[in-house]
Amino acid sequence: MTLPNCDEIIELIPAFVLGALDADEAARVAAHVAACPRCRAEAESFRDVMGLLPYAAGSLDPPPHVKRQLFARIAAVSENSSTYAVAQPRRPAARTSLPGRWFAPMLAIMLALIVGLGAVTFEARGRADAMAAELATNRQIMRSMEAQIAEVRQTAQTAQMQLAASQRELNETRIQLAASQRELQEIQASSSTDEQLVSFIAAPQTVSQLLGTTERAPEEASARMFMQPGHNRLVLLIYGLKSAESGKVYRLWLAKEDQAIAIGTVTVGPDGVAEFVVDAPEPMDAYNQVMITLDEVDTAAQPSEEVIFEANL
Ligand SMILES: [Zn+2]
Repeated sequence: MTLPNCDEIIELIPAFVLGALDADEAARVAAHVAACPRCRAEAESFRDVMGLLPYAAGSLDPPPHVKRQLFARIAAVSENSSTYAVAQPRRPAARTSLPGRWFAPMLAIMLALIVGLGAVTFEARGRADAMAAELATNRQIMRSMEAQIAEVRQTAQTAQMQLAASQRELNETRIQLAASQRELQEIQASSSTDEQLVSFIAAPQTVSQLLGTTERAPEEASARMFMQPGHNRLVLLIYGLKSAESGKVYRLWLAKEDQAIAIGTVTVGPDGVAEFVVDAPEPMDAYNQVMITLDEVDTAAQPSEEVIFEANL
């Protein structure tokens, strides 16, 4: 079904859909479109095209070169449409006035917008896809770097733990070495004491003297002293004496002109034996008496009453 003025109305439809007609003309087209299925279909298909515009545009800002191309295309189409309008002199003035002025440029603008913004969208989507791919790659690189850093950290931690363990071992070894060195020194010292003792006692110029025991000495106890004329050294060998009880010591005294001098303490072993080597402050000839007392540990100023051995020199 075609109404008599359909051709005229169809030319006005794009302007009508875009809202570019004046009120009277818009009312005329609206009334026709309401009654005419063919023109209504035309108007609806235009609305569909219009409906694509916001979707195509999105919220993207077209890049400058696309914008320039777009405006150039619109300008070119507008020029052509003027020519087109002039080149249609056969149409009556009433019919050519609006469609001639509006339809071609409108359609051109719309197409240009759709194509241009579609291109912008396509280009933007392409860029977005590329960026997303790049981002994914960067994320993967970052993750692998993080994994490597974690691995390095763990290795460093393990190394630190091993280092700490090694240092502890080294310290233990040092302590053991120090202990061994002390033991060795003690052994060397005691063996050298033994050697000195033996060589001193065996020397031809050495004289020995048995010390007298008091009633405080055990019955089996004996003490012998070795010395050399003109020398300060004194060697003492004691047998059969009990270890000093706690808080007491055996102390050796040398007396000169009734003045007793504490020379040192004598340690008696569990076997009742004591070996004592000491260098007196003066040659042994200077002293006229020797004495071994059982003293309190801290009374070295004067010999106690508890004399165990004594002898005049
Ligand atoms: Zn119609």
